[in-house]
Amino acid sequence: MSTSNRSADTEHQRVDIERADVDCLKQWDKDHVWHAFTQMAEYEPLIIESAQGAWLKTVDGQRLLDGASSLWCNVLGHRHPRLDAAISDQLGKVAHVTNLGVSNPTTIRLAVKLLQVAPASLECVFFSGDGASAVEVALKMVVQFWRQNSQPQRRRFIALGGAYHGDTVGCVSVGGIARLRDPFDSMLFDVIHGPCPDAFRLPNGVQPEQACAHYVDEYRKLLDKHAGEIAAVIVEPLMQCAAGMVQQPAGFISGLRQLTADRDILLIVDEIAVGMGRSGKMWACQWENVEPDLMCIGKGLSGGYMPMAATLTSRRVWDAFLGTHQESRAFLHGHTYGGNPLGAAVSLATLQIFEDERTLDRVLELSKALAECLRALSDHPHVGNIRICGLIAAIDLVGSRLPRQEFASIDRRGVAVCDVARQHGVWLRPLGNIVPLVPPLCISPAEIKLLVDAVSHGIEAATN
Ligand SMILES: *Cc1c(COP(=O)(O)O)cnc(C)c1O
Repeated sequence: MSTSNRSADTEHQRVDIERADVDCLKQWDKDHVWHAFTQMAEYEPLIIESAQGAWLKTVDGQRLLDGASSLWCNVLGHRHPRLDAAISDQLGKVAHVTNLGVSNPTTIRLAVKLLQVAPASLECVFFSGDGASAVEVALKMVVQFWRQNSQPQRRRFIALGGAYHGDTVGCVSVGGIARLRDPFDSMLFDVIHGPCPDAFRLPNGVQPEQACAHYVDEYRKLLDKHAGEIAAVIVEPLMQCAAGMVQQPAGFISGLRQLTADRDILLIVDEIAVGMGRSGKMWACQWENVEPDLMCIGKGLSGGYMPMAATLTSRRVWDAFLGTHQESRAFLHGHTYGGNPLGAAVSLATLQIFEDERTLDRVLELSKALAECLRALSDHPHVGNIRICGLIAAIDLVGSRLPRQEFASIDRRGVAVCDVARQHGVWLRPLGNIVPLVPPLCISPAEIKLLVDAVSHGIEAATN
């Protein structure tokens, strides 16, 4: 018998968990459930019991419009009948099969379906469980690729200023958000960070029509300076979401593709947030006809139902790992649940629904409706800028517009706006003093209006 040190508060170890009432669940949530990116000393439980379409329902019975798509991953709405059915059908066969040397029909079908909709340069799929894993896979793959391609000195990465690629150590290393890097500085490997290509906040002296050329030129200089030692450039195309929905000037991503191709440097695109239709095309890099060497997908891949992610690669990358067992060239990486059949089933159904329901056409229409609703806010004295890309929009809250003065981040204006929006029936999660609107792609025009109305109330209340 083991004897463990019990804390003074052992109440939770004796009660019947099935019979816990709502207040009890809230207390346990505060005391025992450690939430991501959350100050637990200040945490106020928000417990979602069920959901339908674009709506969440709390244990208190409040209905909330899911304005953040359950953190950017729910694309087709909650409880979509075909997605629910895809999982139960798969459950009737097998829930899990390892992908270490073993396969499953649903997982194979998903791989081929993904390649049918992916840029033509991509021919192979490595499955993992979440976005950060898909990025780690890409980074490790690229380093092992060059080792086995007679250029082991190519092992450094270039990443964008402000980049976010996930929270594991490799992902944080290529990340460019100081607040997320600083505590872990001693663990991070050395990455070259270029400027943050921001179409709206340009360096002094750069005119809007020169923005793309300016940033591409900065990256040209970096690439030339480090040419022989760079394994790959990693980029979140069109809009760097976690950075604060920072939009790149048109032409930047294709410019970067050209620069890397000319120097035989691999290009990794991180489509985890902007992919799966959110930008109005299946993949954001397709707006500029970019054909990457590797592409990371996650979040909406499973419709927002299950942990599921993938790293897609070109045949060239795959080929560098071929050889006999003795040569030891296989990719030395794996995740227990990579390619999980339940996740594969719901992902496959998600991709099929995109075709059957013409989801991408809908996104373009809804994006116009959202832009139209947001126009009313664009003259507000505390709105510095509104950006929109497909069904990703962001509102910058500012102390004043001209001259532009930021709110102090300590003021937490974004949080205040979202708190008021919640009283008006909409759930949102701020990024500092930026209010992102990232609704499910199934949202209706009427729900878009409700979303923007709630945000308007929030801005009124939180900025005066
Ligand atoms: C969310 C995100 C990730 C990390 O995905 P997780 O599933 O949270 O690990 C990586 N890159 C981008 C661009 C993201 O938005």
